[in-house]
Amino acid sequence: MGESSHISVLNYFVTDFRDFFITSNDLTLTKALPHRYNGASIAMKNDKTGKLKNEDLPLDDLESFIPQRQAGFSILRMKIPVGKLESNQLPVLAKLAEKYGRGELHLTTRQGVEIPWISSENIPKIIKEIRKAGFTTGASGPHIRVITACPGNIVCRHGIINAQEFGRNLDAIYAGAPVPHKFKIAVAGCPNACTKPRENDIGFAGMAEPLIVPEKCITCKKCIRICKEGAIIFSENKITLDPDRCEACGDCITSCPKQALSLNRSGIAVYIGGKMGRHPVIGTKIAEFATEKSAIELLDRVLVFYRREGRPRERLADTLRRVGKREAMKEIRKPGKLPL
Ligand code: SF4
Ligand code: SF4
Ligand code: SF4
Repeated sequence: MGESSHISVLNYFVTDFRDFFITSNDLTLTKALPHRYNGASIAMKNDKTGKLKNEDLPLDDLESFIPQRQAGFSILRMKIPVGKLESNQLPVLAKLAEKYGRGELHLTTRQGVEIPWISSENIPKIIKEIRKAGFTTGASGPHIRVITACPGNIVCRHGIINAQEFGRNLDAIYAGAPVPHKFKIAVAGCPNACTKPRENDIGFAGMAEPLIVPEKCITCKKCIRICKEGAIIFSENKITLDPDRCEACGDCITSCPKQALSLNRSGIAVYIGGKMGRHPVIGTKIAEFATEKSAIELLDRVLVFYRREGRPRERLADTLRRVGKREAMKEIRKPGKLPL
């Protein structure tokens, strides 16, 4: 493929790609949806080859160039797993934005970095440079997106689980995997849910359940002041816990000066079927106090279900609504070892 036709195909891809559904390994493009972009991209439709092989173009990278309103320009979406950047990576991003864009960077709601104003002819060059600098491009289209995670228990005083490590492990296994439509995963270190696990296709949040050790309690009532849920009650000169109100944030455990609140159990809450956007949906909690292993097993089951039942461009929330949550749960929450 010559340089000019290469660029033409790039143009075609960055303006049209997200309106297609990939159906096979050799990346046959089918099922074009009505074209929605500007005049220039409509003209580029003439360059359509219909079939592109993997070796012709780095398709994973090309998906990360989101067409701008302005013809011939794209926003490059960089992959920043769990939202963590080292200080020496920032100047690299700044340099890329200056060299190939207009010196602007945009921070996304999902902890990503985007560089706007990348012209089509610069795409091959910037892809090369990104790789050389040790970065990768972020997933787009019908794939599992970069996993988001909060700082978790490494630095946050509320953190129960190591959200960064769990998120990185998930990212290494799942990010970029094909699914019927975009699929978002978030990890939060505690029920404060800063990364919005309930508003993702699948979300994980740390949990820590307290247990009162009455003989250690000096009835200072600090835990009552700390608990935001009103789950700790003082009556008949003693402290009691209302399990129905307790959100398992663990804050009372760490605040008790006498260790009169110990850790009964900890683990991960798992939510599925949440989403943001035009029609937001709050996910359903399907497990509590799961281990990392069982949380991942649930994720696998959800993916098996979604890949089989989900229609192209249908979010998990909509698949669950169409198929019926009860029916879906039969498969996802099979009886067995999982803490369901
Ligand atoms: S979710 Fe919890 S652990 Fe994570 S940043 Fe928020 S408060 Fe901290
Ligand atoms: S903070 Fe500890 S010692 Fe004080 S009332 Fe609560 S459980 Fe008892
Ligand atoms: S774990 Fe959190 S919600 Fe539960 S009683 Fe303690 S402070 Fe309240």
